[in-house]
Amino acid sequence: MRIFDPHIHMTSRTTDDYEAMYASGVRALVEPAFWLGQPRTTVGSFTDYFDALVGWERFRASQFGIAHHCTIALNPKEANDPRCAEVLDVLPRYLAKDGVVAVGEVGFDSMTVEEEKAFARQLELAVEFELPAMVHTPHRDKEQGTRRTLELVTESGLAPGMVVVDHLNEVTVDQVDEAGCWMGFSIYPDTKMDEHRMVAILQRRGLDRVLVNSAADWGRSDPLKTSKTGAAMLAAGFSADDVDRVLWRNPIEFFGQSGRLLVDPDLADDASAGSDASATFEGNSILRGSRD
Ligand SMILES: [Zn+2]
Repeated sequence: MRIFDPHIHMTSRTTDDYEAMYASGVRALVEPAFWLGQPRTTVGSFTDYFDALVGWERFRASQFGIAHHCTIALNPKEANDPRCAEVLDVLPRYLAKDGVVAVGEVGFDSMTVEEEKAFARQLELAVEFELPAMVHTPHRDKEQGTRRTLELVTESGLAPGMVVVDHLNEVTVDQVDEAGCWMGFSIYPDTKMDEHRMVAILQRRGLDRVLVNSAADWGRSDPLKTSKTGAAMLAAGFSADDVDRVLWRNPIEFFGQSGRLLVDPDLADDASAGSDASATFEGNSILRGSRD
């Protein structure tokens, strides 16, 4: 099974996770810029984080045989903090970089006026940079938040096929499907969507425009939920080709629209990217200093 996890926050994860992900078949991923759990107080905190996403974390992933891509944005929650407003001005510098495959995560958290302004502005940037957009739907008021999200996408002029609306469930999937956007599902260990509910959705509406991710971060989450969903699909009678489509070819098709993928789309199932643990990034290796 070859797997492309289209939404996972590796900055919050350990080297054990990287090893287990590789063993389960993960060969590529997208790490969206997001909320770190602790409010940032200056623009510099964001630029250091964005630099780490396009620099150190990509290097770290490569040491475990995984191609790392990222998305860059001011996340919905911090869009409410006036100290972070200037982040919007530094985004163009990052949206021009290699391996930045979308604008995101953008969208709504509490559906405030500030969130809507930042969301609309970042959809404009996606149009300007000809990049896809990754849109986060709120965990509360999901249905209304998704409706307003789709209205803003239409107003932005960004093609629906360039947008993935993420964290969907049985209640929100149909309106996103009708709008022609891609449908993202985050598979969590004990709340919201799990792999069996995911299989039921795939049985009902098919495999088109569906992305399945682990959305693993600093909270309770499981970076192997993509492979567990693949196993649940096989157990339910889907073919290995169906699994490959959902877990590999669909994310390649969606993020390939950026023209910036760093992974070979035709990568063989058993290919190893290979790695050298003593390699360095700006003088630093994952071995932390000499071992003698
Ligand atoms: Zn996320």
